[in-house]
Amino acid sequence: MSADYEVDVAVVGGGACGLMTALRAARDPELVVAVYEKSTREGCNTQFSSGSLAAGGTRFQREAGIDDSPERHAADILAVSKDPESEPILLELCRAAPRYVEWLGDELGHPMEIGLDMARSGQSVPRLHTDKGRAGGGRLVATLRQAVAAADNIAFVDNTPGVGLICENGKVTGVEVVENGERRRVGAKAVVLAADGFGNNPTMLAEYCPQAVGAFYGGVSTSTGDAITWGIELGAAVRNMAAYLGHGLVVPGHGTRLNPVLPFLGAMIVGVDGRRFVDEKGQGYSKLGRIIARQPSRRAVLIWDERMHEAAMNSELMRESAAAGAFGRYASTSELAAAFSLPEDALAEELANFRVVSVAEDPSGVDHGRLEFPLRAGWVTHGILTTQGGLVVDTTGRVQHRDGGWIEGLYAGGGSACGISGPSAEGYMSGNGLLAALGFGWIIGNHLAGAGRRPLC
Ligand SMILES: Cc1cc2nc3c(=O)[nH]c(=O)nc-3n(C[C@H](O)[C@H](O)[C@H](O)COP(=O)(O)OP(=O)(O)OC[C@H]3O[C@@H](n4cnc5c(N)ncnc54)[C@H](O)[C@@H]3O)c2cc1C
Repeated sequence: MSADYEVDVAVVGGGACGLMTALRAARDPELVVAVYEKSTREGCNTQFSSGSLAAGGTRFQREAGIDDSPERHAADILAVSKDPESEPILLELCRAAPRYVEWLGDELGHPMEIGLDMARSGQSVPRLHTDKGRAGGGRLVATLRQAVAAADNIAFVDNTPGVGLICENGKVTGVEVVENGERRRVGAKAVVLAADGFGNNPTMLAEYCPQAVGAFYGGVSTSTGDAITWGIELGAAVRNMAAYLGHGLVVPGHGTRLNPVLPFLGAMIVGVDGRRFVDEKGQGYSKLGRIIARQPSRRAVLIWDERMHEAAMNSELMRESAAAGAFGRYASTSELAAAFSLPEDALAEELANFRVVSVAEDPSGVDHGRLEFPLRAGWVTHGILTTQGGLVVDTTGRVQHRDGGWIEGLYAGGGSACGISGPSAEGYMSGNGLLAALGFGWIIGNHLAGAGRRPLC
């Protein structure tokens, strides 16, 4: 093969998956790793994310007295995704999660903590880890990029999109990139696709993920499905292509979100008719998005009180929402009804009947009372943040061929690989996105490290 230059490992995409792959592979000093990134200026979804890392069985949990394990984590995810086919991969990812969460904290100095105040639907114990100070995904990316910059055998090549794969006799032998405006052929023993999904590709969304069409898109512009497209052209198998990470608490017009902990603290949701239409605590925010999408005018009002407000403000999401003027403070039912053009009678009836913690939820039968004025409230709508389907991979991240076996030399992870969230938006559990990104990065990078002394693949 004629190449302009050669590396050992070429990673396409510099988000969580790509950076983690590079860092783990580069522990092998014999490997030269290059990460090709389309545009750090446009950013990656990891940077946009809340940076909440789901992991079961970490020392952060143990120190907080939480008994958890990777197997329990996987079982919780499966109960929501209803996708038993994903189980082998899911178990590997859940086993990797406590190891990389501790590694990020202990080795890379990421200020990790367990989010005891981050209850999420379907998680049987507190399992989301986050940075102290809750700065979100931007801080996580900064930690990873700093470590990449310090590694002698990793080149991070910005503003250099991958534009296609180089193949010989069915084997991937490199990647074509556009570097400084010129198309260049990079030879590589392994190519890792870490370019995320197709949330910002309307044609692919219409073809594979029609439920997401028309929803507010809250991800980055660079998620155009490039890597998945190349894989399909090469004969790779794809799965769960209709799955996506949706959100039911997106602030219309701004794209920021209200804190998903609010329903668990006792917030109420009503439609434009002033009536409740959903069990607020009964589903994750992705499924809630589907429910709100079916409401008239595809929006609803989230209502909470001061007791919940302080706890909910401890997140970058709520700080952004406050800055965007996404919610207000109301002294009476009539003020609240007028602000959102809701029928006052219906709203008053719902407020009178709603219990912050229902009698059924508290076995002691204690009535925890009603929402108390002054109330906070804001419009919410449904959105799509990232797609969750993609290239089928095995437990080491190797891309599988439609006709069986794998495509030699090709790996995929994060949003480019088939995720662990089942076939639709309803199967996503909080933390699945970064679990598939950092988890596959960890697994693929570890697999490639040491491969300098044995044939790759
Ligand atoms: C608003 C929001 C909040 C979220 N919150 C959470 C959360 O708290 N917890 C959680 O687990 N998940 C969350 N997610 C999902 C999570 O962010 C993603 O699943 C995860 O970041 C995907 O990681 P990745 O490495 O696959 O992709 P990314 O982080 O998006 O990185 C992909 C990179 O590839 C680059 N790229 C694309 N095409 C090319 C190309 N052709 N050549 C070179 N580079 C290319 C992009 O520029 C980008 O930098 C959230 C997502 C969004 C949008």
